[in-house]
Amino acid sequence: SDAVLEIKSLDVDYGLGADAVHAVQDVNLTLHRGEVLGLAGESGSGKSTLAYGLTRLLPPPGVIAGGEVIYHQDNGDTADIMRMTDAELRRFRWAQTAIVFQGAMNSLNPVHKISTQLTDVIKAHDPASTPRSRLGRAREMLSLVGISADRLDSYPHQLSGGMRQRVMIGMALALDPRIVIMDEPTTALDVVIQRQILGQLIDLRERLGFSVLFITHDLSLLVEFSDRIAIMYGGRIVEEAPAADIYRDSLHPYSDGLLHSFPALRGPRRELTGIPGSPPDLRAMPTGCAFHPRCPKAFDPCAADLPVLGVPESHTAGQQRTVACWLHPIH
Ligand code: ATP
Ligand code: MG
Repeated sequence: SDAVLEIKSLDVDYGLGADAVHAVQDVNLTLHRGEVLGLAGESGSGKSTLAYGLTRLLPPPGVIAGGEVIYHQDNGDTADIMRMTDAELRRFRWAQTAIVFQGAMNSLNPVHKISTQLTDVIKAHDPASTPRSRLGRAREMLSLVGISADRLDSYPHQLSGGMRQRVMIGMALALDPRIVIMDEPTTALDVVIQRQILGQLIDLRERLGFSVLFITHDLSLLVEFSDRIAIMYGGRIVEEAPAADIYRDSLHPYSDGLLHSFPALRGPRRELTGIPGSPPDLRAMPTGCAFHPRCPKAFDPCAADLPVLGVPESHTAGQQRTVACWLHPIH
């Protein structure tokens, strides 16, 4: 298969026993070689929990309550990240997966020059490298993300937010990763800069050959830049499809609502209506489909039973899209 990462029936809780909050439930998602997979959903839908969970970086009281995350190595070997030893995990994190988390641009150390921070990361990754080769690599990484080498001597406060974010991305790419996970890397930045950074990342993806899991609220950004999109609501994936299909013909009313929550950057303008109501309280989840209280198309079964994610009858299996909605009976 051309899968790099296969998330299978992943459950992530905060807390234990009866007090546990089920923040990610039964998530199945595959990241393929060389693709950009977008993950969208409102605040609290479980996107970051999924990203932290699948990399085993989940802070307490987060716990993996079930499932597997199968990592496919280039040589064909596979490993379940959820069952790796600490030593295996450290290698996996450094060598194979680069993660840029929400607000990462603020995690640069204010007292060190950009050059020092980049070369330190490269040294940790490749202890046998020489100072000279590390500096060369640092310069190369900055230029990849569109920052000129004279910025190497800058301190973080001398750079704009967009530049700091690019430095973080350059740092992540210095590890020559197979998988890049970005969790709203540009949340605090304006839309123009977000697009530039994401566009640059996509170019690099083609040149460097990594796969990207890109997480954001902004579905219009994903429609433009990702190959496939998964939509999360209340801890579950409710729809997954090629980006063009989500844009042209989204099946879940929640996906529709999200599409009408952000201005489209290309194509016909949509009316911005947003989604009425607010995301569910994980401690008091609605019965049936968690979206039904806010859904303009809800009907009888929606409050009664949880719809299963599957290939809709209106589509052939080859179209590779799934939805969990009573409006769309599945095969
Ligand atoms: P955002 O778009 O705001 O980043 P998100 O989709 O990344 O949201 P998560 O941060 O994964 O959402 O949170 C998912 C749910 O888990 C939320 O309801 C949140 O309140 C809950 N949660 C997160 N951290 C904890 C914690 N430490 N303890 C209990 N619940 C938590
Ligand atoms: Mg988040």
